[in-house]
Amino acid sequence: MINAVKKKVLLKGMPLDELNDYFVSIGEPKFRGGQVFNWMYNHLVTDFTEMNNLSKELRNKLSDNTIIKTLDYVDSEVSESTGTKKFVFETNEHNKIESVIIPEENRKTLCISTQIGCPLDCKFCATGLMGYKKNLSAGEIFDQYLLAAKDYGKDNLTNIVYMGMGEPLLNYSATINSLKIFADELTTGISLRKITVSTAGIAPKIIDLADSGLKVKIALSLHSCFEDTRSKIMPINIKYSLKQNIDAIKYYVKKTGTRITFEYIMLKDINDRQDDINALARLCSEIPSKINVIPFNSLKHMNPEGFSALLEPTPKHRIEDFVTKLRDRNITVNVRYTQGDDIAAACGQLAVKFI
Ligand code: SAH
Repeated sequence: MINAVKKKVLLKGMPLDELNDYFVSIGEPKFRGGQVFNWMYNHLVTDFTEMNNLSKELRNKLSDNTIIKTLDYVDSEVSESTGTKKFVFETNEHNKIESVIIPEENRKTLCISTQIGCPLDCKFCATGLMGYKKNLSAGEIFDQYLLAAKDYGKDNLTNIVYMGMGEPLLNYSATINSLKIFADELTTGISLRKITVSTAGIAPKIIDLADSGLKVKIALSLHSCFEDTRSKIMPINIKYSLKQNIDAIKYYVKKTGTRITFEYIMLKDINDRQDDINALARLCSEIPSKINVIPFNSLKHMNPEGFSALLEPTPKHRIEDFVTKLRDRNITVNVRYTQGDDIAAACGQLAVKFI
């Protein structure tokens, strides 16, 4: 006898058009897609029994054949100094992922992950040091928001950044599907205007994202304007050069009318010289943009080896000098002072031991 275990359909993470198609495929009216969309994404419901505008028969059928819960809440921790809150969630296959809420005066930003680990091996990043395990599904990406919203209060979250573990544009279709949910006019949560996707620079996917029609904001992890330096600290630059990425970003800006954010970690004697200021000023004069300067967060807790072990933060007074010189040239610069390093929740510190 064949012992066939029927694979359940993953509804969580489907944008509205896919949900509609699913319901039509099981002989239900199309509008069921919108109803289930509402329950899952707006009312944060994870149990079919709560979907009281569906018949009992349909609810049973759905719970037998589909999945709408992709993550479990495991733990959370709050930084006493800044109020930054780190969540640990677990996937159905028992992988752990982390998401972080960064509270600022006018906004509360949720930082979500798109992969478990990361294949990019950026020399300054803890997630890179831990290696790559798998892509998250669109459901697992979106569920980080839903679980954080449930805990923190949906109305308290104002912004989302795709800046946690992983490279969103190397998990393109799941990232796009999660964005489509935020973009849908049925969604009552955070709108696309308040969402930023951060990329290390996967040029062809930046073009695809521009062509997708989703006018999400993009941040490019720049970290150096020089190809050789950038390749040293971000090996992905060897595959997709800075030049290719800047061309793609120019296309993105033109097509979407958005302004680009350049992220720039300050690494002592690597990217903090006068030449770097000149090159940054030149780049910013060509593209509607702003720079987020990020003080380098230590990777000491990861015991880094090789080049990573040599990286040091630029001292604070030199960061201030760097920023002042850029501002003097009419460049918009924000400094993202470290949030949550006491709970290893700061940028580039997200790394759950998965082995
Ligand atoms: N792969 C994406 C998103 C993850 S990284 C990307 O590269 O953009 C999110 C941001 O954190 C990036 O700007 C990254 O460069 C920064 N970051 C990584 N490690 C860091 C560290 N040790 N200190 C400060 N910022 C870091």
